[in-house]
Formats: sequence, C-alpha cells, structure tokens
Amino acid sequence: MIIVLEPNTPEKEVQNLITEVKQNGVEVHRSDGQSYTILGLVGDTSKVQESPILSNKWVHNLVHIQEPYKRANKIFKPEATIIEVAGHKIGGDAIVVMAGPCSVEGKDAVIEHAKAVKEAGAHFLRAGAYKPRSSPYSFQGLGKEGIEYMLEAKKETGLPIVTEIMSIGTLDEFKDVDIIQVGARNMQNFALLKALGKTDKPILLKRGLSSTIEEWLMSAEYILAEGNPNVILCERGIRTFENYTRNTLDVSAVPMVKRLSHLPIIVDPSHAAGLWWMVDSLSKASIAAGADGLIIEVHPDPAHALSDGAQTIKPQQFAKLMIEMDKIAKVLERHVI
Ligand code: PEP
Ligand code: MN
Repeated sequence: MIIVLEPNTPEKEVQNLITEVKQNGVEVHRSDGQSYTILGLVGDTSKVQESPILSNKWVHNLVHIQEPYKRANKIFKPEATIIEVAGHKIGGDAIVVMAGPCSVEGKDAVIEHAKAVKEAGAHFLRAGAYKPRSSPYSFQGLGKEGIEYMLEAKKETGLPIVTEIMSIGTLDEFKDVDIIQVGARNMQNFALLKALGKTDKPILLKRGLSSTIEEWLMSAEYILAEGNPNVILCERGIRTFENYTRNTLDVSAVPMVKRLSHLPIIVDPSHAAGLWWMVDSLSKASIAAGADGLIIEVHPDPAHALSDGAQTIKPQQFAKLMIEMDKIAKVLERHVI
C-alpha cells in the first residue's frame, strides 16, 4: 500500500501520518519526489484502516500495490534510482560499461587486462576471483588472491572493480571491491542476499538461469528489505529450448524492468550468447532497448583464456564496439564515452 501526499504537505503532517500508520506494525518507506512525497507501507497492511487516511486532507491518494515486490516497485519510488560508484552514475544518462576477462588469471595478467580494457574505454574492470563452474574439475578461480590481484589492477589503472561473491563467509574480502556481483546461480541464495542487504555496497544482481522477472525482482527485494538500496539488475540470458546460443538474451526484460522498477538494469551479452561474434549485436540491441550499462568479457587472447574464451572478445573489437555503442546511445540522448 502506498500513500501519495499532496504537494507541499507540511513536514509536521508527514511525520504525524508516519507515526499513525506505524502504530499498525508496518514499516514506512518514504520517497520524496519532485512533486509528490510517497509513503510506502511494507509488512502486514491488513490492520491499516483506510478511512482515516483517506479523510486526511494532506493525502492525495492511496494505492494498493498488487506485486509482491514493494521496495523494488516503481509505484513505491517513481524516480529512477541512480547509483553512484567511483564517480560513475549507474542509471543516469551515461551508459556504464564493465569489461574484462571471465576470470582473474594471475596478478600480471589481470593488470594487463585492466590496462587493455581501460585503453579501450571501459569504466569498470570485471573479472571473477571466485568462479561458479558447472564442473568441479574446471578452473575454480584464484579466490582471495584473485581479489588482491584485482585491487592491484585497480591501483595501477584507477579502474573500479566488479567481482562475484559466492559465499557469505568471504564477505570481508570484498570490502574494497566497488561492486559485488551476485551470479545467476546465486540469485536465490537468500541468506547471501540478506547478508549483502546489511552492507552498503552496490550489488550487481544477475538474473537466475531460469528465473522470471518477478522472481528476480523479489531477490532484489531481499537486499532492499535489509536496508541496502544499491541494487543494479543484470540480464544475462535465460535458459530456453534454443541451443544455438548458450542462453537466450531476454532483451524484453530491459523495458519490462524499466516499467516495473526504479532500479538500474545492465546487460551481459557475453553469457547470454556464449558466442564472441554475437556480443557486438547484442550489446547494441541492449542499448537500443534502454539498458543502463553492459558487462562484457574481454581478453587479449580468448583462445587461451582460463574460462569462457568462446564468448570473449578482444580489446580491439571492444574498442570499436565502444565507439559504435556511443553513436547508438547519442540517438537516445545518452552516451557511452
Ligand atoms: C560471470 O560473470 O563470469 C558469470 C559466471 O556470470 P553468470 O552468473 O551470469 O553465469
Ligand atoms: Mn564468464
């Protein structure tokens, strides 16, 4: 349930109303927009009496939210959420691009990869230190050391870093990481989501392999409900009957999420396609669909990358893509560069 207040409602009246509704045991989430202040009620709203609220002259409207996600809902907070990380505004006019290898492959390697993507125009370095691999016999990532190497790469290049967390026990290792990624396989690891919700770190929440948009927004809700408002959604393809691509990029998730939620959404074309040559088209399609950013796998020698080489583009291809994406973004009054 949300209460929309009249423009210029005196602060004292807002506070009185908040106190009144809180007496029913619900939590109140306040959102001050340009013209309206909105009070979002979360919890069991069945005891909230509507008539005294509706008879309050400062109340413009009372709306019931049908969707199970409340804090992630656009009705709750009509203004787009813009998340500021290391000088970049995710969800604003700029389209933010994160690039780098699938895995951290070593200290010198990740520094070299960071320099290459920075030179091509990337805004963030992506790389996995902890890797969720389908086979226990595949390279599992360098773990804690991998994060330390990424921090070295950050120091050398100035690029902020994004890397994946796989278990709560390692959370301390992420204190200097700029964006913590929750991978597709952990989208419904609710204990992990709750723990991340207690931090103030920006969280990149990937869509689960076979998750609906509603399930994905409910996972975002877990983080928001614990008090962390910094959630960035990431569409990375879903499992369908189609086998020519690794996953099917659900481009329609971008405008749908924009309609349903105020949270920023970026796209990962690499894990969606599983094919390096398709990354170019899918990246451009994502920008055209309204994505706020991209996360792309880039490696100077994809054939010898320790993971996901088949879907990885080279720095030169990435540099060209950045320029072309910027042209598409400009048509939409946004920019990449
Ligand atoms: C990754 O980004 O390297 C990754 C494992 O992604 P996803 O969780 O989308 O499969
Ligand atoms: Mn990968």
